[in-house]
Amino acid sequence: MADLTEAQARDREDPLAPFRARFRGDPDLVYLDGNSLGRLPDHTPDRLADVISRQWGERLIRSWSEGWLDLPLEVGDAIAAAVLGAAAGQVAVADATTVCFYKLAAAAIGARPGRREIVSDLHDFPTDRYVLESLAHGHQMTIRWIDSDPAGGPEPAEVAALLSEATALVSLSHVTYRSGHRADMAAINALSHEAGALTLWDLSHSAGSVPLQLDRDGCDLAVGCTYKYLCGGPGSPAYLYVARALQSQLRQPIWGWLGRADPFAMAPGYVAADGIRGFLSGTPPILSLAAVDAGVALIAEAGIDAIAEKGSRLGSFLIAAADERLAPHGVSVATPRDAARRGAHVALAHPRAHALTDALIRAGVVVDFRAPDVIRAGLAPLSTSYADVWAFIDTLDSLLAGAGVTAQWR
Ligand SMILES: *Cc1c(COP(=O)(O)O)cnc(C)c1O
Repeated sequence: MADLTEAQARDREDPLAPFRARFRGDPDLVYLDGNSLGRLPDHTPDRLADVISRQWGERLIRSWSEGWLDLPLEVGDAIAAAVLGAAAGQVAVADATTVCFYKLAAAAIGARPGRREIVSDLHDFPTDRYVLESLAHGHQMTIRWIDSDPAGGPEPAEVAALLSEATALVSLSHVTYRSGHRADMAAINALSHEAGALTLWDLSHSAGSVPLQLDRDGCDLAVGCTYKYLCGGPGSPAYLYVARALQSQLRQPIWGWLGRADPFAMAPGYVAADGIRGFLSGTPPILSLAAVDAGVALIAEAGIDAIAEKGSRLGSFLIAAADERLAPHGVSVATPRDAARRGAHVALAHPRAHALTDALIRAGVVVDFRAPDVIRAGLAPLSTSYADVWAFIDTLDSLLAGAGVTAQWR
């Protein structure tokens, strides 16, 4: 039975339960949107206060040589070790996800001259699709779109059907933003490489929610944002991963001074810095980078395997409760039921999803709506309890029954 007693029993047995109190904000708020904006870790304001008062306020410009210039690569290595399954020297934190995605997609296209096609998913996150459209337009290329299942995501066979000697790049989200479907990264990398194409993965909904093994799984390129499961705060910079073997072959298109070898020589002509530093462009946002570092430290402390395990259990609990309590009201699960094939968010479909989402938020249950008919519940494992999941199900049940909100879970 999925009920409050069961949820409370699961919380008592949950080894990660104490982490929920390590975030700021109203502990009674049912916050199921940590996959859009992660909660504020309790220690992050102190870290930022030090960067502001001491590093900026006292040390001023000297701070650039006292650590700031290395921060993009240091935090990159921390993300690589904590959540990406990547060896050091392959990840940098820089720019928005959109810009990192542009830089790596352009670099991949440039490394496959003569190949005129890109394979991607028609239902991928909009910014990825738009950037690919821009690149295809600028390079006279064609995008071959997979029309993936909206309650699932791109499958290896669908990728295989579109690959050819013309494919330069295969670009997909690992965990799909709407359905939470988790793609078979290793299989798709292998298929793409057989066809001679490079792969670019968007990990925005994967990093910090599911285990990743970018090096082992043969990933070429990846990007992701840091303000979702990594709790870097609003607008915190993204990260980009370039497999070491490709770093000297690929050229990113935004040739800024901080991606140049010996930037302070201010010399004529651009020469890319060696390694992952050559994928940087301009001055890094130090305040946000420090916040990312603080968020990633919390993830590292809990451990990604334990986090992923809890994410899959929270999802299974939600799905079982939805089947029992919400299916009779016409709610269907629009997320893969196999925990190995999904991330840490669950989509529930209902024709009145938009109005229901607004009513849930008014009732203190923060979820989000994704067009056309999905209520999306993000189950950020460190800041979400089973009682939170129960509160969501019970509130939605009351709303659908037209009974108002009982709030008996508080
Ligand atoms: C959240 C998200 C982004 C965000 O891009 P920004 O440039 O940071 O706004 C990109 N891709 C995916 C798949 C996302 O989920």
